[in-house]
Amino acid sequence: MADSDNKSGRSEDLSDEVETWGGVPGIEEDRVVQPAPSDDEELLVVSLRPSRFDEYVGQDHVRSNLQISCNASKRRGDPLDHVLLHGPPGLGKTSLARILSAELGVGFKGTSGPAIEKPGDLAAILTSLADRDVLFIDEIHRLPRVVEEVLYPAMEDFELDIIIGQGPAARSIKIPIRPFTLVGATTRSGMLTSPLRDRFGIVHRLDFYSREDLARIVKRSASILEVACDDTAASEIAARSRGTPRIANRLLKRVRDYAEECSGGEMTGIVARKALELLEIDTQGLDRTDRAFLSLIIDKFDGGPVGIETVAAALGEDRETLEDVFEPYLLQEGFLARTKRGREATERAYKHLSRDLPVGRAQGQLFGKD
Ligand code: ADP
Repeated sequence: MADSDNKSGRSEDLSDEVETWGGVPGIEEDRVVQPAPSDDEELLVVSLRPSRFDEYVGQDHVRSNLQISCNASKRRGDPLDHVLLHGPPGLGKTSLARILSAELGVGFKGTSGPAIEKPGDLAAILTSLADRDVLFIDEIHRLPRVVEEVLYPAMEDFELDIIIGQGPAARSIKIPIRPFTLVGATTRSGMLTSPLRDRFGIVHRLDFYSREDLARIVKRSASILEVACDDTAASEIAARSRGTPRIANRLLKRVRDYAEECSGGEMTGIVARKALELLEIDTQGLDRTDRAFLSLIIDKFDGGPVGIETVAAALGEDRETLEDVFEPYLLQEGFLARTKRGREATERAYKHLSRDLPVGRAQGQLFGKD
């Protein structure tokens, strides 16, 4: 099941001993603001996951479009067109796929790109689907090429093209499969091949959530968990969740621990602030690693531009993790700029980290504009 899959293969990477820069540890496996799911929260994730459109907070545009397509296909009795959801981890792609199957009243099967190693693995999954089921493939950009080729006729004509035998005796046979809806999720839509992308009839990008929406998610989760969380606590947590529901739920859980252990169980603004300070998450939702990322660029590379490979090597992190996990939020919040010559720390990053702006970089000027 997708829930129990390691969504990005990232936690293995993160558990490696990583080199440190300036005494700052690399990304810990249990990094609180890491948007990939961790094992200890599976139960929490399952119970907090919205199961219907009306429980799904925010992303109004995506939700209402999917709702319309869903209702229309249900009325016609056709399978829903294949859906591609892209956006950073933890924003609700898996949840939407599950909601689609629940709203359509069909079965759900979840897997991930790296888990399907051979064409036979995919053929086994496809032939086990019931009529109009939703097949969810997370990290679909990581499907091996040979597997992807099996997917094309399956998506387009609901048939499997299987080659039997080898050499001159090889022949291709077509096996019909039941009509299904593929929901593909990816953090990197740019890495999808165009034949695959073209086969999705519905494509949506999920954006980071507003603080108001995250506060609503925190309140909803708190009520499911039956813990008292006032509005100030919810907005403190929301402000530090990097626009990501999964992180909001994780922080809520940590604040709940703190509240239970240190202040009689009730989550107030003050309790939330204290708990989050203890976790070293600052008011902008940046943790030690984010600050190490920005400090490195400011202190060692004069604010940039510096190549992502250099930053990755200095932080002891792989490039993909930096690009998928850290950069989207730092870019969106204006702490980091991506230019043709590399990454640059912005004026906001200097201010946030209490560093003096270098001479020649006037206030209000975006550094290194190409
Ligand atoms: P992704 O597949 O994009 O990595 P998930 O769908 O697994 O993200 O979402 C992670 C968790 O965040 C879910 O288990 C759920 O608790 C919460 N979540 C995500 N999106 C929403 C939303 N729109 N409303 C409420 N909770 C959400």
